[in-house]
Amino acid sequence: MAYTSELETRIAKKVTKAITEHGLIEEGDRVMIALSGGKDSWALIQILDVLRRRAPIAFTLVAVNIDSGYEGYEHEKITATCAARGWECHIEHTTIGETIEDILDESATPCSLCARLRRGALYRLATKVGATKIALGHHADDFIETLLLNLFFQGSLKAMPARLVSDNGEHVVIRPLVNVLESEARAYAKASALPIVGCCCPACGDLSLQRQRVKRLIAELQVEHPDIKNSMLRALGNVASRHLLDKRLDPLPELRAAAARVLSLTPVPTR
Ligand code: SF4
Repeated sequence: MAYTSELETRIAKKVTKAITEHGLIEEGDRVMIALSGGKDSWALIQILDVLRRRAPIAFTLVAVNIDSGYEGYEHEKITATCAARGWECHIEHTTIGETIEDILDESATPCSLCARLRRGALYRLATKVGATKIALGHHADDFIETLLLNLFFQGSLKAMPARLVSDNGEHVVIRPLVNVLESEARAYAKASALPIVGCCCPACGDLSLQRQRVKRLIAELQVEHPDIKNSMLRALGNVASRHLLDKRLDPLPELRAAAARVLSLTPVPTR
């Protein structure tokens, strides 16, 4: 089966690289895709389906959609599209939207609570559908924006993992679009004629101002330095831990010197 376009070929290469480098999908996996109906999750299911048909290993896909209960959410478009393309799909109707309204006061940003509630629902669904992996549609722009958000506003140097085992060890979350740019995911969902379904959440489009600022900053820098996103992405896989200040990463100099002394005293085994 040939790729349908240059864009699909490029995205397929990037996703295959992520899968092999981070061990994201293995023989026999049942991969559950968190399908919101946004461009990123559509791009994810489309490219995984293309790769599944060509892969030297056997794995299956199942889409799940979490309906947060907002009025006007067009989940039928998602079910209809999946049915037309032969993709197994489960819709889970929840009251996440209502719960957020009840718990949070009006001035608070709902997104982190929403993410936690949706993550809990995804874990429950993964068990229900017998999934061995949970695939999320985060792309390269999400990784580097999260890196800068944590650096600028949270005092920590971290982004997101491409593969994460849940705290209880029961679930494995994977992000196969780690190397794919947001613009590529958008163009691919459009070229694949997949219907973008808005989440209908009142906070949607008014996401954290800090994230919007970081997006603008990267876009500004990109004008002068077109390769800046790739450089930041490469940096995430090229950490010089001894050139940071976290003592947990760099044992005290005395300890290192002691270890070196011990090693120099250890006789070299003779044959
Ligand atoms: S915009 Fe709405 S749906 Fe999206 S993460 Fe925030 S609260 Fe949840």
